[in-house]
Parts: sequence; structure tokens; C-alpha cells
Amino acid sequence: MSPFHAIDVADYYDSETFSKIKAFADSKPTPFVVIDTNIISKQYDDMVHAFPKADVFYAVKANPAAEILSLLRDKGANFDIASIYELDMVMDIGVTPDRVSYGNTIKKRQDVREFYKRGVRMFASDSEPDLRMIAEEAPGSRVYVRILTEGTETADWPLSRKFGCQNEMAYELLVLAKELGLEPYGISFHVGSQQRDIGAWDAAIAKVKMIFDRLRDEHGIVLQMINMGGGFPANYLDKTNSLQTYAEQIHYFLVEDFGEDLPRIILEPGRSLISNAGVLVSEVVLISRKSHTALERWVFTDVGKFSGLIETMDEAIKFPIFTERKGELERCVIAGPTCDSADIMYEQYAYGLPSDLAIGDRMYWLTTGAYTTTYSAVCFNGFPPLQAYYL
Ligand code: PLP
Repeated sequence: MSPFHAIDVADYYDSETFSKIKAFADSKPTPFVVIDTNIISKQYDDMVHAFPKADVFYAVKANPAAEILSLLRDKGANFDIASIYELDMVMDIGVTPDRVSYGNTIKKRQDVREFYKRGVRMFASDSEPDLRMIAEEAPGSRVYVRILTEGTETADWPLSRKFGCQNEMAYELLVLAKELGLEPYGISFHVGSQQRDIGAWDAAIAKVKMIFDRLRDEHGIVLQMINMGGGFPANYLDKTNSLQTYAEQIHYFLVEDFGEDLPRIILEPGRSLISNAGVLVSEVVLISRKSHTALERWVFTDVGKFSGLIETMDEAIKFPIFTERKGELERCVIAGPTCDSADIMYEQYAYGLPSDLAIGDRMYWLTTGAYTTTYSAVCFNGFPPLQAYYL
């Protein structure tokens, strides 16, 4: 979609919700993000409704705020954990270890030992050294192996390559898991975050099916679980299908390969649960041009790549930006406040902001609940980490 269209907040929030967020925001100095936990609650209900047969493991990395973790704990969610620090966060609020999966394929020996000591019994892996280490430090645990997937071009934030292994290796690792006394439990994949092509799940599920069949036929190993990761959509500038459409098609792909009697299905949503709940508020610090005749305006604001908007790297995630000005849209480069030239959010992507935008105006970055606070640097250039308020 052309960036040259005025943002209609009604496409993202109902008017009551946005008025509430704005009223709260008006008295606060920028920059900060306001997160409405009612929206998270609804997103979670929608996810459970769309995938009634799946178990949801919230990907804590999306936003580990205690307010969010407690809400999801009370709603019955499980948790996909990436580090010992995230484990502390969920256990501190009383989540029991049977609701935790250690989903990171890159982990230290002492951390696996600690997870096991605290009762966690489900681990992801994608390599032999890691698997052998799990067998030593977490004997008898359930392991699932992450496979590589295609679809990196159609995901806004691809996650393959660094994680996962080829099918053949996944098969061998699950055989080895059994030999090492672990429980070969299932297969996981992540088709890439904000995956626009629902067909990416079809291809991944077909790969999973092949591994399931070979292990059963050649080794009598019956896998129990498919972990389909995240990748479900948030509401950014470029629209996607609805979550319901994703769910219906993915269910169809599953039944096509596995029949109605499905293995246990795990989902690990992060972005799709949290993003829509956040509005990041910044202020225009400077508007300038590089010469008197230059067409392009540079809009500098008090939030940037190092204070929460890292997902604008390669201009990957296109956040809708609302301002209260009504002028005609004019192309501009949008940049952050630090003395680092990488701190430019949109330059190639010809963003249009109102021509009457002025220094001191507020910019409302919609759909910023996930992967913003956690990516905010401690004090790059002296700027403090992004402040967050939870409603
Ligand atoms: N699961 C794993 C293992 C991940 O690494 C991630 C994101 O990095 C997620 C789930 C969440 O994905 P998403 O935010 O697309 O829902």
C-alpha cells in the first residue's frame, strides 16, 4: 500500500480506546509507550477462539512486562522462554514449570541445569552438541527439534537461517534423542514474524509430516507435538489477512496432512498478541531540509532505532504514524534523536506526513506494543530507555 495515505486511527483502535489512551498520554512528557492490556486480553481470546485445539505459549520476548505476564498467567497461557532471566520473570509471578517451554536453541549448560532444577521439562534444540548437553543436564526431558523453513521474503521480520536445521538432521537428532534417554516429543518451526504468506505454514507442515512418518516407520518413534511458533499478524500499515483467515487455512493444512486426529499443537504468538495494544508517543524535535531547494523534509523526533524502534531496521516494520495535523501529505525522511546516522527509521520507504507538521507536535506510532520496550537501549547518547505505561 502507498505510504501516501492519511492514517485513520479507526483502522487500528476503536474511538473510545484511542481517546482513553490519548487522554492518558496528554499529560506525560514524551517519548513513551502506552499499552492497553484490555486489547491484549481480547487478542488472546481471539487467538484461543481461532485455534481452539492449540495450546498457546506466549513468546515472552515480545514484551515481558509484569502486567502482561500476570494477565496471561490468569487467562491460562503457557510461556515460551528464551533465557534464564525470562524464566525468573514468569516464575516470580507464580507460573509453574509445567507451563514453560525453553524455546531458545542457543543456551548455556548452567542455564539448562537451572531450568531442569526448577522443574522445566520441555526444551527446543536444533544441533547435536545442544541435544547432548540437554541429555546430560535435563535427563529424560521432552525435546522438540526446530526445522528450517522457507518464506523469508514474505515475512516482515524473518527468523530462519539462524535457527533450525534441515529435515534430515532433525530426523537424526530425534533418533539420537531417544538413544540419549530423552523423550523425542515433536517438531517446531517459525515461518518468520509478521508472515504475510499463509502458504508458508503449508510448506512447513508438509516437512513436519515427512519427519513424523519416517520416525514412526523406521524407528517406531511416535512424535506427539507440532510447535508452529509465531508469525501471526499485527495491524501495521500494510494490511494482512485476518487472524481468523490464518487460522482456517492453517487448520486446513494440518488436517490435509495429519487427518482430523491431530497431534498436540502449540503456538507461540508474540507480536500478534501484544503489538496492537501499544501506542508510542513521540514529539517532533526538528524539521529541516538539506538545502533551500531540496524537496525532501527531514523530520527528527525524540524516539528512534535505539529507543524502541529497532524494528524499523531495513525499514522492515512499517508502523502507522498518526498526527493531529490535517495538511496534505508530503514525503519525508523520519529520523531519531541520536548522533548515529543509522538512527533513521524511514528513508527509502517514502513516508508521507502532513505538510503543516510542526516542531513540538506529537507523533502517535500505532501498533507498538511488542518488540519496542525490550529493544530500547539503556542509555545510548544519554537517552533513557523507553518509558512504558500499562492501562
Ligand atoms: N517463538 C520463537 C522461538 C521466537 O523466536 C519468536 C520470535 O522471535 C516467537 C515465537 C514469536 O514470534 P511472533 O512475534 O512472530 O509471534
